Amino acid sequence: MTAAQLWEAALGALEVRLAGPSFDTFLRGTRGLSVQGDRLLVGAPSPFAVEYLEKRLRGAAQEAVRSVARSPLTVHFQVADPEGGPGPGTAPSSTPPPARRGKYTFSSFVVEPCNRLAHAAAVAASREPGLKYNPLFLHSPVGLGKTHLLRSIQHHLAAQGVAAVYVNGEQFTTEFVSAVRSGGADAFRRKYHGAEALLFDDIQFLGGKRQTQDTLFHVFNALHHQDRQIVLASDRPPQALTSLGDRLRSRLDWGFTVEIRPPNQESRLHILRAKVKRLKPPPSDEVLTALARPACGSIRELEGRLTSLVARAELTNQTATLATAATVLAEAAALAPANAPIAPNHVIAAVAAHHHLTATALAGPARDRVTSRARHIAIYLLRESGTLSLGEIGRLLGGRDHSSIGHAYRKMQKSYAEDLSLQRELRDITSKAAVPAIIHQ
Ligand code: ADP
Ligand code: MG
Repeated sequence: MTAAQLWEAALGALEVRLAGPSFDTFLRGTRGLSVQGDRLLVGAPSPFAVEYLEKRLRGAAQEAVRSVARSPLTVHFQVADPEGGPGPGTAPSSTPPPARRGKYTFSSFVVEPCNRLAHAAAVAASREPGLKYNPLFLHSPVGLGKTHLLRSIQHHLAAQGVAAVYVNGEQFTTEFVSAVRSGGADAFRRKYHGAEALLFDDIQFLGGKRQTQDTLFHVFNALHHQDRQIVLASDRPPQALTSLGDRLRSRLDWGFTVEIRPPNQESRLHILRAKVKRLKPPPSDEVLTALARPACGSIRELEGRLTSLVARAELTNQTATLATAATVLAEAAALAPANAPIAPNHVIAAVAAHHHLTATALAGPARDRVTSRARHIAIYLLRESGTLSLGEIGRLLGGRDHSSIGHAYRKMQKSYAEDLSLQRELRDITSKAAVPAIIHQ
């Protein structure tokens, strides 16, 4: 593997583990430069980024690289042009992996039940800015497309000549602090109070920063007063942003709030299919299906799987096979302990408890409405966790036939896509039971 490929594959894994802002701010512009002995050199765009990466992310980076390379490399960061100017010992340029080539536009955004509403609201906000959903508030855990949507709105508005300002909470804080320090308050004010639309990403970063919050509060009022579109993104819903002052938080409640959920198995497959369209040759559908099977909390993680699959295939000059997919998945599981497969009995017990039933009842013959429904939920969760076959699930649930398990699963899949209260219920069950791999199914 070249240094560039190695680092790309490691980034796929790192994206999953790091909070959005530190990834977006510090890792997005990095690239693998060279391997010298047991040292992997990684280029970052600025001295500040290098310092931050060395201090804060070296350990995580090293761990990811080691698991991809299967050798005890150390990672070192240095300043290098992100666009691939000749860094020292730059590896020969290879095709960039699919996940990172795409721009953040509506056309590259795959619309699925888990994000349909957020997508529709984002499109509306960019077609008729300021008129419909103002402010629009998007929230989800990391890696589910909030930044992608914000950037898409920005592009769409720019194409209509509307100059929207995109900023994330971390950047906004830094700009504010340095404006105060260096007397640049006027320029800061002009930029934000004069914005034709404001796309504010990762607002949770403002938690506990009272002065920065006050500043955003005033920007918010000024823009909202003039019907300028405001879109905010956060890793949690407004009411859970407890470290934001009440004043600002109450503003966020004015508008329209949408949650983006993690994709289910079917959506994961759709997303992978869309992402390999431009690859030549694309991995087979069978391989993609295998890659989509295990649950994952984010699309970023899914892209990470695809990136390592493609890097591996390129490395060996072979098309990716089911065995390649299995290796990639095993690696991903090893890197993300929170996603390790959950004991199936734990899932069954959690579902039973939620319905005031016993695990024995779920595995038993009863067919009353409550028991059947609980059994269906258990089937769905077990299947979505991606590690059990239909036959195995049938055996766990008292020796049921694999075809009736399959039937129940498909039925649940369909209702899950349409039924908000079912989605809420499943989240409830899995979060109470602390079942991380399937929490977000
Ligand atoms: P967040 O801001 O919620 O942490 P991002 O917008 O950074 O997530 O998305 C993480 C990665 O997943 C990005 O590479 C993005 O392009 C991709 N992604 C997220 N949602 C979709 C989608 N619906 N279709 C295609 N790619 C997506
Ligand atoms: Mg983001």
